Amino acid sequence: MTTLDVAGIAVSPDHYIDGRRVPSDQHFELHSPIDQRLLGRIAEGTAAHVEAAIVAAQKAFPAWSAMTAAERQPLLDRFAEEIGKRADAFCALESNDAGVLLSRMRHGVVPRAMLNIAWFAQHALTLQDRPIDTEQAHHIVRHDPAGVVVIITPWNAPLMLSTWKLGPALAAGNTCILKPPEWAPLTCSLLADAADAAGLPPGVFNVVQGTGARTGAALVADARIARVSFTGSVPTAKAIAQAAGANLVPCSLELGGKSPFIVLDDADLDAAAATGALMYRNAGQVCLAGTRFLVHEKVADAFVAAMRGYVEKLTVGDPRDAATEVGPIIHPRQVERVAGFVDRAVAGGAQVLWGGAKHAFGAQYYQPTMLTGLSQGDEIVQNEVFGPVLTLQTFADDDEAIALANGTDYGLGGVCYGETSHATEVAQRVRTGFIWVNSFGIRDLAAPFGGIKRSGVGREGGDWSFEFFCDVKDVVVPK
Ligand code: NAD
Repeated sequence: MTTLDVAGIAVSPDHYIDGRRVPSDQHFELHSPIDQRLLGRIAEGTAAHVEAAIVAAQKAFPAWSAMTAAERQPLLDRFAEEIGKRADAFCALESNDAGVLLSRMRHGVVPRAMLNIAWFAQHALTLQDRPIDTEQAHHIVRHDPAGVVVIITPWNAPLMLSTWKLGPALAAGNTCILKPPEWAPLTCSLLADAADAAGLPPGVFNVVQGTGARTGAALVADARIARVSFTGSVPTAKAIAQAAGANLVPCSLELGGKSPFIVLDDADLDAAAATGALMYRNAGQVCLAGTRFLVHEKVADAFVAAMRGYVEKLTVGDPRDAATEVGPIIHPRQVERVAGFVDRAVAGGAQVLWGGAKHAFGAQYYQPTMLTGLSQGDEIVQNEVFGPVLTLQTFADDDEAIALANGTDYGLGGVCYGETSHATEVAQRVRTGFIWVNSFGIRDLAAPFGGIKRSGVGREGGDWSFEFFCDVKDVVVPK
């Protein structure tokens, strides 16, 4: 058994199957986005590992699913506690492999990961008994666990998104196989240590490391699995939906976004600008960020001046430094992708309001950028960049704002600043899965989360997560 030393933290590069670490004779290299140093060689999941994980999860399912939610809850609470005990390690690992700000890990991601596990364990108690009584019959509406669940997550928020799916899947009584993102797999590996220390029975939670094209594809094509819960890009979602669809396996798909950030003529421009600068957080690698600024023409100049003030104060740098607000881009390939979008837009006539080039801090850093002078059909207006690159268009009235907001194939989220009742009215006409009025990022685990159009299929959060991870059954007893 090998162990990696990443920033002084010991972490396994191996799989975790049936309650033990399983090495591979095939590996892929993991490099840090901060300085490109080699962090280690991670196990590649072969067909044999995929098989072993599915068999282990199947074997563990009868006993785990036979427990009541109340019986599972103490174990899952302990899982959350074991995550908390490793907070420093989770922070250091995800900061080093995904480039997430250390401060954000400590104050946002780790507490949320713990809550993701503990909250759903608690919420599962409400699933047990949801009777419907009519004159004719008593309906016992059961939420039975579906079986073996495959969870596939992206690199921009591996710990948060993995626990967001694991929490409800495990609490509902399923057994799980997590396939972490190959560009940032370390915190998912550490999750297995936490689950092990919490005493989750072998096979209930398995981690199979590996690349998407090989390990991920093998997992989702297997007819023995009951559900696929995926967060990632649109092309991958299509491949997964096709593979799972061949076996009629239901998929939950949380995908990309091109969300509007609307600034109405009666908005508090300073507040909108301050929030606008937050869209560069995680170097813009945030699915729910508002990336298309749609600003009323009357206030556009004042808004741009206000936002420029906030952007100029942003500190770009090493995510491990407390002062850093914008860190690196995950991978050299992704840096080139981001730069390509900007270069093509500029070549096509876009104007750069700020940024527009790589950042001097390091090879994988890009300047916070805002482009304008764009048409709705332009590539950069229509496609997710997933980097620190925003666009700005103006509108003359609400109808035009809404037409622009709804004028892409995406429909994940949105932000709308304006006088509250006006902004609320406009927000309700925007076709997305969620939208924040005069705010950004307020999340509640009980609320629905997900996208429409190309941004996804299904909803996560609260009861919606359980509807997906359970087989809902009506036992009808006549009166
Ligand atoms: P990606 O689609 O390239 O990869 C996501 C995961 O899928 C990885 O673990 C990868 O290994 C795996 N994968 C790749 N090909 C596969 C296949 N054929 N079969 C099975 N698994 C496969 O996405 P990414 O680049 O890691 O993440 C960025 C994307 O994720 C962006 O589009 C972003 O908007 C989206 N995202 C969405 C949300 C949301 O909640 N809607 C949250 C975060 C990120």
